[in-house]
Amino acid sequence: MKDWSDLAPFPSPERRVWCNRTLNLRSIRAIGYDMDYTLIHYRVDEWERRAYEHLRQRLADQGYPVDGLEFDPDGAIRGLAIDKERGNLVKANRFGYVKQAAHGTRPMGFDELRTEYGRTVVDLAEPRWEFLNTFFSKSEGCMFAQLVDRLDEQRLPGVMGYADLYRLVKKTLDFAHMEGHLKAEIIGDPDRFIDLDPDLPQALADQRMAGKKVLLITNSEWSYTRAMMAYAFDRFLPDGRTWRDLFDIVFVSARKPAFFTSRMPVFEVATEEGMLRPAIGLHEGALFLGGDARLVEEHLGVSGEEILYVGDHLSTDVHVSKAVLRWRTGLVVRELEEELKALANFAGPEQELESLMAEKERLEHLHAHARLGLQRLKGGAPRAGLSPSRLHEALTDLRAALDALDERIGPLAAGAGEIGNRRWGPLMRAGNDKSLLARQVERYADVYTSRVSNFLHHTPYGYLRSFRGTMPHDAGPGPGG
Ligand SMILES: [Mg+2]
Repeated sequence: MKDWSDLAPFPSPERRVWCNRTLNLRSIRAIGYDMDYTLIHYRVDEWERRAYEHLRQRLADQGYPVDGLEFDPDGAIRGLAIDKERGNLVKANRFGYVKQAAHGTRPMGFDELRTEYGRTVVDLAEPRWEFLNTFFSKSEGCMFAQLVDRLDEQRLPGVMGYADLYRLVKKTLDFAHMEGHLKAEIIGDPDRFIDLDPDLPQALADQRMAGKKVLLITNSEWSYTRAMMAYAFDRFLPDGRTWRDLFDIVFVSARKPAFFTSRMPVFEVATEEGMLRPAIGLHEGALFLGGDARLVEEHLGVSGEEILYVGDHLSTDVHVSKAVLRWRTGLVVRELEEELKALANFAGPEQELESLMAEKERLEHLHAHARLGLQRLKGGAPRAGLSPSRLHEALTDLRAALDALDERIGPLAAGAGEIGNRRWGPLMRAGNDKSLLARQVERYADVYTSRVSNFLHHTPYGYLRSFRGTMPHDAGPGPGG
């Protein structure tokens, strides 16, 4: 056979679609997309900074002392949980054990962490926790932490504890998102807020040409959706074509998660200005307000496993659609691009860290046996060749070597803990293990990727195979060789 590899290079890791559960794209008959942070990627720091500033203004209007507070882009990352009982932000591992935490904006040390969370498992089903599900949560997490500091200083009269504070922040931020000012600013200056992706229209056009129904299902209202989609898509399409030509059906103001869980009223948006009329069933090329997932299934005549829904909100877009409808799910995790690059840059130190850890494990094993040898001698069960003096010497020697190893491991481990975000570290890792976010991604997202246009490389005919799961014993022989 000739070498055909120049037909298409395999995508780089940061642009691949990663697979938790095997997905044959050929058998997918409809693909639905969320809009905000899925098809439209915002410059997170700009968008969240403005959202934060609107939130701060609304709080100031209500008389809260928010003077001097500034948005901190590193203050919170997706996948942290807010502990509403204790006023903390926490990062947990896949078992829910807290590996990092901050009270307000102050990071907790090891001992404090152990006292506070030694007996606690983060269970997101409990009302105590608020999981930061999307980039939109960054401003919320940042403001909550800063106001915890002020509450502790007794500067927030009328706020009755951390749960009450969370309610205040959440309610005010939702209000800032809903009212027109913030969105009018985005519509008025899209260059500043939107990060364009020229490959995106082609990825959707390929899917549609391959016979799949392509849907937009967004909670954003029509006027905002129209402005964002036209800005991000129309410039990359041939003359006379618009973003509307890429979609079979569009749903705005979809009210997810209710869109997935309940029957909802549906209206047709009859004019560009947004005039509504009652909808009698769905029809293609049309634009609807409201509606629900069952209506989509009935109209298209497809079942759950034939629909792929792609969104960035871990709970609403992938957890609910999978739990309720068994739709196939794709999660957009833009942070992966920077994080995978940072991990690649850290490959050298990472390798060194691993070999030092293997050496540490080997020396600890010997140290434990030297100790046991002494204990047995005391108990009157000597073993040939193990004199007390030899064992004491081994203990001293090994302890010194272990201390020296720790000196070298410390800075490397600290470096690994700053990948992706200087304060909270990588999204998908917590300490040595997978993070709680990674566990949520595994459970609910069949596939995940940094951006929708990555589907371009895998084509509408691709067969995405799941990663071979690993257990600790899969990792190889370890320090014994
Ligand atoms: Mg979204």
